[in-house]
Amino acid sequence: MIQLQNLHKDYIVNGKTVPALRGIDFTIEKGEIFGIIGHSGAGKSTLIRCINLLERPTSGKVVVDGIDLTKLDDRKLQEQRRQIGMIFQHFNLLSSATVADNVAFPLKLAKKPKAEIDRKVAELLALVGLQDHGNKYPAQLSGGQKQRVGIARALASDPKVLLCDEATSALDPQTTNSILALLRDINRKLGITVVLITHEMHVIRSICDRVAVIDGGKIVESGRVIDVFLKPQHPTTREFVEQVADSVELREAVAHEKAAGDRTIIRITFLGEQTYQPILFRTMQETGTSFNILQGTISRMKDTPYGQLVVELEGEDDRSRQTIDVLRRRGLEVEVIEWN
Ligand code: ADP
Repeated sequence: MIQLQNLHKDYIVNGKTVPALRGIDFTIEKGEIFGIIGHSGAGKSTLIRCINLLERPTSGKVVVDGIDLTKLDDRKLQEQRRQIGMIFQHFNLLSSATVADNVAFPLKLAKKPKAEIDRKVAELLALVGLQDHGNKYPAQLSGGQKQRVGIARALASDPKVLLCDEATSALDPQTTNSILALLRDINRKLGITVVLITHEMHVIRSICDRVAVIDGGKIVESGRVIDVFLKPQHPTTREFVEQVADSVELREAVAHEKAAGDRTIIRITFLGEQTYQPILFRTMQETGTSFNILQGTISRMKDTPYGQLVVELEGEDDRSRQTIDVLRRRGLEVEVIEWN
């Protein structure tokens, strides 16, 4: 659906070249939710704005639905852009227009007949749960409601792709979750390909199928969210994964146990059906290992349940090694946090 090929973007600031993207290559499949995560200044905004050519790349190709956008003249580019909706961190609504008029805006620009506009606006407001708010002004809405207006407006021209530029970064955690649920819903119902940028691993974990990690204008790691999550390779990725993994309490507990000495501490990850099976207890019974649970969580990666347990194994190294081997053979992911 979207192919980025050797994308470079330099900004010229006071006569000096500032490279923002340094050779980006990846493909986003039709119908997937693709997340790009990176720290501030990594190049996320530049990258997502290059997908609809709001920002023109210095070199490289941006192919959307088979068409290289960098080769189009202005008129053809405008046409292709209708296939790509976009939502923003600060919503970018027209404050002097009602909710309904904000959503109608792209349709009026495209000179659609009034009856069609009215029908479409009503349909979109219902889709985002704002059917009773059409006559309000943006200032009368909460942040989450404003973003819903942004989403309805972005969908007005029936795009194939929805770009989300830090769409939940200005929202509280609960509202963030409701907007993420809405994006998922839209992706499923309408089959729209969703591309989002964020600095929050929680966002990636909740709704993305695949993720690319950007650092210094380069993609340093990419893959299925589950794989990247469970086996992060690059230090930047590990930092992001830690955002949603270990709590302060766990770090304190590990430090405390380490101080006590003679302990092996492991993190076990259960995926899918494994999450609900007593594999750990059976293994410990079989190998005769005593253990102590330091922390446990059950969570979800998009549709896949997963559980993580941080466990302290007591006793000699050999028995701990044997226990870890058996757990791995049974298909569990085991990471050794600390050998005794
Ligand atoms: P992110 O979205 O990850 O915070 P950006 O894409 O905004 O990153 O920025 C990447 C780099 O490009 C940074 O070094 C930033 O200072 C620079 N940059 C971004 N936009 C501009 C601009 N309009 N003019 C000059 N430099 C810019």
